[in-house]
Amino acid sequence: MFEKVLIANRGEIALRVLRACRELGIQTVAVHSTADAEAMHVRLADESVCIGPPPARDSYLNIPSIVAACEITGAEAVHPGYGFLSENARFAGILAEHGIKFIGPSAEHIRIMGDKIEAKRTAKALGIPVVPGSEGGVATVDEARKVASDIGYPVIIKATAGGGGRGMKVARSESELETAVNTAQSEAKAAFGNGDVYVEKYLEKPRHIEIQVLGDGKGNAVHLGERDCSLQRRHQKVWEEALSPALNAQQRSSIGSRVAKAMAELGYEGVGTIEFLYENGEFYFIEMNTRLQVEHPVTESITGLDLVQEQIRVASGSDLQFTQESITFSGHAIECRINAENPTTFAPSPGRVDAVHFPGGLGVRVDSALYSGYRIPPYYDSLIGKLIVSGKTRTECMMRLRRALGEFVVEGIETTIPLFQQLLAEPDIIDGQYDIHWLEHFLARSA
Ligand code: ADP
Repeated sequence: MFEKVLIANRGEIALRVLRACRELGIQTVAVHSTADAEAMHVRLADESVCIGPPPARDSYLNIPSIVAACEITGAEAVHPGYGFLSENARFAGILAEHGIKFIGPSAEHIRIMGDKIEAKRTAKALGIPVVPGSEGGVATVDEARKVASDIGYPVIIKATAGGGGRGMKVARSESELETAVNTAQSEAKAAFGNGDVYVEKYLEKPRHIEIQVLGDGKGNAVHLGERDCSLQRRHQKVWEEALSPALNAQQRSSIGSRVAKAMAELGYEGVGTIEFLYENGEFYFIEMNTRLQVEHPVTESITGLDLVQEQIRVASGSDLQFTQESITFSGHAIECRINAENPTTFAPSPGRVDAVHFPGGLGVRVDSALYSGYRIPPYYDSLIGKLIVSGKTRTECMMRLRRALGEFVVEGIETTIPLFQQLLAEPDIIDGQYDIHWLEHFLARSA
């Protein structure tokens, strides 16, 4: 096992990783920008190193500074959290060259899955069902037109280097195709420095269902059930649950074992998520995330596993500690992503948090780095906390969620807590009847 791990992240996830390390008896090194000198992850870590000024490109994305911080502190491994450098194959490669272990999959697996076309090709070759579409990228509108007329409209044009829901455009008919391709290409170029795009069948009313996997890089892999992340705003997840209200045990085990088998064949190491759109009983692969996800706690709730500790264990060379048969799912869990934003306009609301009070009690977990008097810097993501609630049944979970949201107090800034209170009153949410467009429609209705 490692003696010292550097956490190359901030906010709630840095704290989450720190907690896992501490329980494993591992020393922690926090890194931070000058804007985060007073952050909770810095306060709680055994050591901390300032790695640069506020903009992420000069600090949390600054590879030389992070490698230097490892060398100064003697950290043997780096946990990247999510976002920032967590899916950066070059970073994983550079760490390896310096003899520092990247807690995550191989640089090669990150690279393959980071290129959506290659990821889709790999998934297909491993027997995972994919969305019908172009075999590779499309360079011209003419090429896109040919694919679109083969698979039929509507189609979606997506960035090869995509992420965070950017660089995606829908074309409902041939007349919309040219604009969609051009806009997707220029958005992709601006956001990712790579304007390559591909074409996929646009699914009208799918759910977003993703399978959590864990592999040891030695040919053993298991799946840990699914999460339903259909409630999204601008392709960003807002509310996640495990298990999905839309699947039965037989469907779960069928897609889960297919995915676990594929990951075993790939020799995948660490945690990963295979994301699918699910419509009319069929699964369609959209992408794989080769990292820990924001929504991992709902899986922890239903399996009783600590995913970060499992990540660290396999990274330190240990074999998987369990078989598929020993994994059982119990109860239901829901996560609400709480952002420092106005709950109706979603305008960011950084600033001083005058007071916080987190809910507690049976089945309630809050992952957050907030504290009273903390000043939320304006430079980063607006996620300030995650409320994760579990119960024996989905109904119990929803009742508990309502109670927990009522106890949650954040003063001095605006948060999205009122949005979740509104959602809990919606019959479709109560019944678990929603697709990936439900939330956008709801927000448009309530505007
Ligand atoms: P990103 O990496 O930017 O998050 P994804 O490929 O994961 O992109 O897609 C994000 C979201 O976009 C999905 O959860 C879904 O809501 C929507 N989406 C992506 N592909 C399709 C598709 N073929 N049909 C309908 N919606 C899609």
